[in-house]
Amino acid sequence: MRPFDYETPPTAIAAVGLAEGFAPSHATSLNQYVGGGTTLLDLMKLDVMRPARLVDITRLEDKRLRQVAKDGDMLRIGALVTMSALSDDRMIARDYPVLRDTLWQAASAQLRNMARLGGNVLQRTRCPYFRDTTYEQCNKRDPGSGCAAMDGFNRLHAVLGTSGDCIATYPGDWAQALIALDANVEILGTEGPRVIRFAELHRAPGATPHIETTLAPGDLITGFTVPGGPWPRSTYVKVRDRASYAFANASAAVALRMDGDAAADVRIALGGVATVPWRARKAEALLKGRPLTEEAATAAAEAEFADATAREHNAFKIPLGKATIVRALMQAKAMEA
Ligand SMILES: Cc1cc2nc3c(=O)[nH]c(=O)nc-3n(C[C@H](O)[C@H](O)[C@H](O)COP(=O)(O)OP(=O)(O)OC[C@H]3O[C@@H](n4cnc5c(N)ncnc54)[C@H](O)[C@@H]3O)c2cc1C
Ligand code: SF4
Repeated sequence: MRPFDYETPPTAIAAVGLAEGFAPSHATSLNQYVGGGTTLLDLMKLDVMRPARLVDITRLEDKRLRQVAKDGDMLRIGALVTMSALSDDRMIARDYPVLRDTLWQAASAQLRNMARLGGNVLQRTRCPYFRDTTYEQCNKRDPGSGCAAMDGFNRLHAVLGTSGDCIATYPGDWAQALIALDANVEILGTEGPRVIRFAELHRAPGATPHIETTLAPGDLITGFTVPGGPWPRSTYVKVRDRASYAFANASAAVALRMDGDAAADVRIALGGVATVPWRARKAEALLKGRPLTEEAATAAAEAEFADATAREHNAFKIPLGKATIVRALMQAKAMEA
């Protein structure tokens, strides 16, 4: 491992202050915050990430970073809350089951105890060519070098939101819940605090796959907010190679409000099939205000994947992704509101 500096600032403002003057993209920034370290330290050991300075944020004194609280119709979750603390929270299980479902189907109990939600949404792709530096071609790791996955083993790769430069999937689960709930992200940057929609956090690869988010150097995620009250009828279906401790081949988070038999409001987010947490807007548009039947769900899923692009080994993700949408919608419909 390469040498690095290690800082333990006392406050969020002090942490952000340490970030000034560092490199211009979050993922390759020489200055990295450490939450649980479960992604970052792995990638440092593999020599994929090479930060010059680690800023440990687990000891920050700001209480709101560790709190889960409701303020009227708004739910707020601090960025240092662990995955396990949120998935064990009874209010979350009752009012926002999709937040719990995406977490308890992610990683392992040990990892969930360590990992924080701020770091969770910034975890990096599991593309094997990205994680193994003996492969020289990876535009995400080494911009302009090419992409070994295009004509390589691409079974795990994306079919939606891809570009000619990168087809890596966004690997996480919880982000799909935040997309389905139309959540916001609170950020503290060198210019002060700001709030953006969670859907604006991740960038599709385009011609610059190494720039994965819209964060600026030093931006610290301080929390997440979900507006608009509870979504008791919300759920997550995750399809994977093993029953636990594996990333999704396809997944769907659904948040649903019914009016009789009709889907009064429906939000769908897909994982495992796309380069970013994917809002299935085409499917939603076909379902909203109409009776929610299996036939309607199937037609909506067909529409969502109409423009999907498969490579040699991942075409199975298209029918799998459609079936996952249908299953998640039917599961959400069957829930008690
Ligand atoms: C074997 C294994 C299996 C896994 N399986 C799954 C799975 O099935 N589903 C799933 O969703 N995840 C899975 N994960 C990933 C795991 O959920 C993430 O590693 C974890 O959530 C990251 O959180 P962390 O706090 O450890 O982040 P860290 O590793 O500390 O940080 C990750 C990145 O985020 C940055 N960062 C951290 N906190 C902040 C902040 N507040 N503001 C700005 N930047 C920040 C860091 O600088 C770093 O770049 C798995 C991981 C492993 C090792
Ligand atoms: S798919 Fe993306 S991450 Fe994987 S090798 Fe290609 S450029 Fe790198």
